[in-house]
Amino acid sequence: MNVLDYTFEAYEGLLDAALDAGYAFLTVREYLRAAALPDRFVLLRHDIDRQPSNAVSMAGLESRRDIGATYYFRTATFDPETALAMAERGHEVGYHYEDLAQANGDHEAAHRRFERNLDRFRRHVPVETACAHGSPLSPHANTDVWERRSPADYDLLGEAYRSIDVGADALGGLRYLSDTGRTWRTPGSGIASVATTDDLVRAIELGAYPRLYLLAHPCRWAGGRLGLAGRIAWDIGAESAKFAIGKLRG
Ligand SMILES: [Zn+2]
Repeated sequence: MNVLDYTFEAYEGLLDAALDAGYAFLTVREYLRAAALPDRFVLLRHDIDRQPSNAVSMAGLESRRDIGATYYFRTATFDPETALAMAERGHEVGYHYEDLAQANGDHEAAHRRFERNLDRFRRHVPVETACAHGSPLSPHANTDVWERRSPADYDLLGEAYRSIDVGADALGGLRYLSDTGRTWRTPGSGIASVATTDDLVRAIELGAYPRLYLLAHPCRWAGGRLGLAGRIAWDIGAESAKFAIGKLRG
């Protein structure tokens, strides 16, 4: 593990390497809707497990490059103004659900919670995809909530795990890499050579993996100088977002 690796500086280097190598960036919604996929792309997903302020910084760094990503908010990290501002800047906002764990495995109660929470998000911002939160203290896997119903029952396009086929044999060769554990080494990815962000940058420069599905948890990435730059870029756009919020509420 390289503790200096997971900085916003390293993250910006990753984004720029992908742009330079001709990778397109897709949100989960765009990926699920696409009639045809680009030859090279990064499907970019962020789970906001805690510290929404880090997500704002990350979104600012992406917005400066016209990159859109999908940000999944838990009920505990959802903030209507932040979510709407993200949507205004071309990011997708989704629901990071944990209802089955919170309902102690009671499927009916979990679905009631899911519906209520999704409705709450949708009062502020369009939500078309959802993504399970891994609840480490619960014996219940949140994705099991789909044993009895489907995302379509909630007018969702899909779910970030069950609707996206990944792995070495996936159609179109989509490879899933997650920063969980502060390494990109991800079980089942079929990529053993990528651990650090530098490794990932090199793989991107070589075009070794033309279709990548990246999960970066904003709370795992440290701020620093460029994090601040992301905040400033975000704040500059804040006035127009506030204006849009005013129009929506007015
Ligand atoms: Zn999570």
